[in-house]
Amino acid sequence: MGRVVHYRSFGTPGGEYASECRAAVVTEVPQYLTQEPMDGCPNGTDGEWIASLAVLGPSGTFFDRNVRQDEDSRDGGTWHWPERTD
Ligand SMILES: [Zn+2]
Repeated sequence: MGRVVHYRSFGTPGGEYASECRAAVVTEVPQYLTQEPMDGCPNGTDGEWIASLAVLGPSGTFFDRNVRQDEDSRDGGTWHWPERTD
């Protein structure tokens, strides 16, 4: 709880806004995974971690629950560790 990660924002479909990294604070680490195919398995099974986040955007903070980890950070709406240089 309270660790800072990166949240990958959604870009707009037309490309007006690119998907970007946002700082996010972990607010909850759920006990169980919530998405198929590992719905109901303990969080962290096969390296699949989800977290609830407070995302710090330039124009406000928003909260999102059960966000999937994606260290490739290609997909919007995922989180990754911030050590990467992006
Ligand atoms: Zn990042």
